[in-house]
Amino acid sequence: MKAIVYHGPKEISLDDVPVPEINQDEVLIKVHYAGICGSDLNIYVGAHPRAKSPLITGHEFSGVIAKGNGHFKEGTPVTVRPLISCQHCAPCENGVSHVCSSLKLYGIDTAGGMAEYVKVPANVVHQLPADMPMTIGAFVEPLAVAVHAVSRTNFNVGDSVVVFGAGTIGLCMASVLQAGGAKQIIVVETNPYRLQLASELGFIALNPAEIDITARVSELTKGIALMSCMTVPPIRLLPHC
Ligand SMILES: [Zn+2]
Ligand SMILES: [Zn+2]
Repeated sequence: MKAIVYHGPKEISLDDVPVPEINQDEVLIKVHYAGICGSDLNIYVGAHPRAKSPLITGHEFSGVIAKGNGHFKEGTPVTVRPLISCQHCAPCENGVSHVCSSLKLYGIDTAGGMAEYVKVPANVVHQLPADMPMTIGAFVEPLAVAVHAVSRTNFNVGDSVVVFGAGTIGLCMASVLQAGGAKQIIVVETNPYRLQLASELGFIALNPAEIDITARVSELTKGIALMSCMTVPPIRLLPHC
């Protein structure tokens, strides 16, 4: 099968590799779409602390079950919760396996979804609605990150909110807040493309390089706003770029 393989900093290629063999707990997915995450860009430039070459990248993907192995019917549309947790550390035993003390991810610590086929344990697979486009299916994971992040804030319906950063997760958070009934959603961003995207999505897009953000936000919200910070540096600021 074809797979996108990371071989070292700025060395990535489309390779022919064997189709993965599955064990009794696993299923084989035929991948339809895979998203490129910020962490994939970190891997590409060699800045990800855990990714070791050779590695098939990709942890945001959708596809159909190619081998269900008794767990799923073949052809079922699915996406994957890409976390690999140990199941026996204290966080895992307390039901918070997403903060497992030895947490790993498909596409970072082991082969991911930027390939024709990927194998994963059946218990991380989620069936998608039959009418959901596969492009959206590949977007479930980053959207879930935003849903979780918003759930960690003290947001209430009718609040005015400020989201710093209009990257994928920032815009997902703004969209989740919009769906959740925020009164005003202010997105702070310096990148012109992202600013435009934010305003096209109906958010108040402000550029701190051009205006006094504190004054403008106070004016818009009459001094009462919930702040939500996304502080991942843009990839061009990372080392080796
Ligand atoms: Zn990601
Ligand atoms: Zn664990």
